[in-house]
Amino acid sequence: AAEEGFDAEEVEGAIEEAGHGPLPVLAVVGRPNVGKSTLVNRIIGRREAVVEDKPGVTRDRVTYEAEWAGRRFKVVDTGGWEQDVLGIDASVAAQAEYAIEAADAVVFVVDAKVGATDTDEAVVRLLRKAGKPVVLCANKVDGQSGEADAAYLWSLGLGEPSPVSALHGRGTGDMLDRVLEALPEAPAQTFGTGVGGPRRIALIGRPNVGKSSLLNKVAGEDRVVVNEVAGTTRDPVDELIELGGVTWKFVDTAGIRKRVHLQQGADYYASLRTAAAVEKAEVAVVLIDASESISVQDQRIVTMAVEAGRAIVVAYNKWDTLDEERRYYLEREIETELGQVAWAPRVNVSAQTGRHMEKLVPAIETALAGWETRVPTGRLNAFLGELVAAHPHPVRGGKQPRILFGTQAGTKPPRFVLFASGFIEAGYRRFIERRLREEFSFDGTPIHISVRVRE
Ligand code: GDP
Ligand code: GDP
Repeated sequence: AAEEGFDAEEVEGAIEEAGHGPLPVLAVVGRPNVGKSTLVNRIIGRREAVVEDKPGVTRDRVTYEAEWAGRRFKVVDTGGWEQDVLGIDASVAAQAEYAIEAADAVVFVVDAKVGATDTDEAVVRLLRKAGKPVVLCANKVDGQSGEADAAYLWSLGLGEPSPVSALHGRGTGDMLDRVLEALPEAPAQTFGTGVGGPRRIALIGRPNVGKSSLLNKVAGEDRVVVNEVAGTTRDPVDELIELGGVTWKFVDTAGIRKRVHLQQGADYYASLRTAAAVEKAEVAVVLIDASESISVQDQRIVTMAVEAGRAIVVAYNKWDTLDEERRYYLEREIETELGQVAWAPRVNVSAQTGRHMEKLVPAIETALAGWETRVPTGRLNAFLGELVAAHPHPVRGGKQPRILFGTQAGTKPPRFVLFASGFIEAGYRRFIERRLREEFSFDGTPIHISVRVRE
C-alpha cells in the first residue's frame, strides 16, 4: 500500500521488524574467569555487563538483547556471582543448569590457555544430558600462536572449538555465525511444542514472599513432577498442577521448594533463577509480600517479567496479616512503586488461609487472553482514525504530526507499528497506549508500540 507516503516495502519491513515473537535464548556458561562476561559484552556490543573484579558483587541483570547479522536473540550471562560457596564443581554446575534449561542454544566457554579441567568436563556432562545445541568457545586465543591451544579442546567431544579472544574481538564474528546456525528462529520453550499443551506459569518473587507456601496450597496432593533431570546438583523441575479444572505447568518449581543456602552470590543466583523461569513461562505470577513495604527487589522482579514480554499477574500475599493501616499504605505504595504494571490483574491472597485462591486462575486467564489478543487491522484503523480526530497531537513548530495508520505486527505480547507524518512525542505515545488498552482489553500484558515517521 502506497499509503500516505509510505511505500509498500517500507511498511512491510517495519511490520516484520516489530513483529517478532519471543526471542530465542542463548546461554553463556563456563567456569569462573574463563571470560564469560567479557564475551557477553562483545556479543551485546555494550559495556552494560560490567566485568567486576570484586568477588561477591551481585548483579541483578542477567539477560540482555543482542543482534548479529540481522537476527535478534537474548543472551543469558552466568558470569556474575561468587562460586566458592558450594564448592567449585557444584556451583558451576548449578548456575549452568538453570541457564541451560532456559536456553535454546549454549555457548560453552573454556580458557584455551588453561585447557580442559575437571570442572569443564562436568559441564560437558550437563550439556550432553540437556541435549541443546552447543558452540564450544576456546577463549583467550589472543593471537595466531594460541590456535594450537584451541585445537586441544577437540578432546571435550563437543565438536570444533571456535578460537576466540573475547577481550580483543578476534574470532567472535565466526563464532557468532555458528551461534546463529545453532539457534532456532523462535524459542522452543515459549512456542514450539506447546500447542494445546498446558500453559506455562512462572511463580516469582523475592525470598520469603510465600512462593513455596502458595505452590503447596494450590497443588495440594496431586502434583505431577515432570522434566526431571536426574543426577545433577540442582534439578529444574516443572510441575503439572490442576487448577479450576485445567492443567497448568508451573515451571522451575524446584528452585522454589529446595532452597540453596548461599551467602555470597545468593541474590545473583536468585536473579538467574527468576530470569530462567520467566524465559520458560508464558505468564508470570509475581508474588509480593503485602505485609512489608514494596521494595526495589520487588520492582526489579516485576521489571524482569515486563522486559521479557510475559503476561503478568500480581498477587499480594499474606493478606491475612494486614490491618487497616497497612492496607492504606499498601495502596499508596502500589500506586507509586508498581505503576509500571498498573494494567496487570491483581489478586489479594493468603497462601496460609487459602483466601482468594480461586481468583488466581481467572486472573491468569485474563492476562493470557490479553497477551494473545490480535486486533484486526480494519478495527485498529477505525479506532485510530477516531482517536486522532478527537484528540490530535499538539502542534509543534507550526506542524501537526499525525498518526496516519497502524497495524498489529505480532502477539505474545501484542506489538504495534504506527505510521506517522512527523515525530510523535512520548506523552502522546503513552496516551495512545492507554486508549489502546482501554479499547481492546490488554489487561495483564505489556504492549509494544513502535512509530515510523514518513521521511
Ligand atoms: P567470567 O568469570 O567467566 O565472566 O570471566 P571474565 O569475563 O570476568 O574474565 C576473567 C578475566 O579474563 C578478566 O581479567 C578478563 O579481562 C580476562 N579475559 C577475558 N577474555 C579474555 C581474552 O580473550 N584474552 C585474555 N588475554 N584475557 C581475557
Ligand atoms: P518463599 O521463600 O517465597 O518460597 O516463601 P515461603 O513460602 O517459604 O514463606 C515464607 C514465610 O512466610 C513462611 O514462614 C510462611 O509460613 C509465611 N507465609 C507464606 N504465605 C503466608 C501467608 O499468606 N500468610 C502468612 N501469615 N504467612 C505466610
